[in-house]
Amino acid sequence: MSRYWSPLVHRLTPYVPGEQPKLPNLVKLNTNENPYPPSPLVAAAIVEQLANDGQSLRLYPDPNADHLKQAIAARYSEFGITPPQVFVGNGSDEVLAHAFMALLRHDLPILFPDITYSFYPVYCSLYDIAHLTVPLTDDFQIRLDDYAVANGGIIFPNPNAPTGCLLPIAAIERLLLVHRQSVLVVDEAYIDFGGESAIALVNRHRNLLVVHTLSKSRSLAGLRVGYAVGHTELIEALERVKNSFNSYPLDRLAIAGAIAAMGDQEYFERTRQAVIDSREVLRNELLALAFKVLPSAANFIFVRHPQRDAGELAAQLRLRGIIVRHFRSPRIDQHLRITIGTDEQCAVLVEALREILT
Ligand code: PMP
Repeated sequence: MSRYWSPLVHRLTPYVPGEQPKLPNLVKLNTNENPYPPSPLVAAAIVEQLANDGQSLRLYPDPNADHLKQAIAARYSEFGITPPQVFVGNGSDEVLAHAFMALLRHDLPILFPDITYSFYPVYCSLYDIAHLTVPLTDDFQIRLDDYAVANGGIIFPNPNAPTGCLLPIAAIERLLLVHRQSVLVVDEAYIDFGGESAIALVNRHRNLLVVHTLSKSRSLAGLRVGYAVGHTELIEALERVKNSFNSYPLDRLAIAGAIAAMGDQEYFERTRQAVIDSREVLRNELLALAFKVLPSAANFIFVRHPQRDAGELAAQLRLRGIIVRHFRSPRIDQHLRITIGTDEQCAVLVEALREILT
């Protein structure tokens, strides 16, 4: 606390990201990073940017990242997406922040699930946005009927975080039809690991904004690139906020690397399938150890052991050099969220759990 702070700063409770420990050789399954490196084309594109002693870094990047928008639109050309329907930002967190400011800040409260990405309430307090949380069902599902109230917008991740539960695209479409007067933001950070993207609906519903990240299925959490796809009317609002904040959210290296990643579909398909396959193996192994495991469409699973305290399990794993995520929040404090690692990492985890449980 300080008298020099703006009054708003006193009221903020900032988001706390998962730990990025400095220790080597940890089995790091706590922040939903991809266990595989990005496409080799990414490093090649970045090295190319650095040619001639990094001459190109002398110049500002393209403030609109037009080539990247073209690469993203091309990826979704089957749905008729064009570059003006794409917005890019410094990680999807920044894209989400702009969406809160640009599209979700109205008189009526916005709606999101009680158990969801914990950055949402933080943006609400930063931007002074009233919100109502809608409880998930006892088995952690989103029930559409519970959203049937007047609202200033709706946002949720699909699949949801930290549960991994997926809402089918038909359900998203029903919600869009019921709430035509407000914007629905679908945060599809994890969609590539098991769901059908609502980008397919963008050209039918002008109130839909779909947010993606290159941090998960493209293995680029360290490069900080996210994007949104929606009607040009929504994209224009995001651009207006972005251009009132930072003209150059993506640097030259990030733009070059992201274009290369979006272009390597073969590598993308191969690595996401490897994660999906490992997830199903890990799920079965944990079920065999008597864990309750929610079906997941993401690159993590959400588990609970009926006889063991989740915090204690996380602490025991940590002693063995394995870190998973434990949220000390109501309703989920007996769960662990475990990122899908390589098969070797998953095997180390299962072995450690077997030891801890016996
Ligand atoms: N949405 C959800 C649901 C997430 O879990 C995350 C990762 N913490 C993000 C968005 C943000 O990802 P990034 O900023 O790396 O794109």
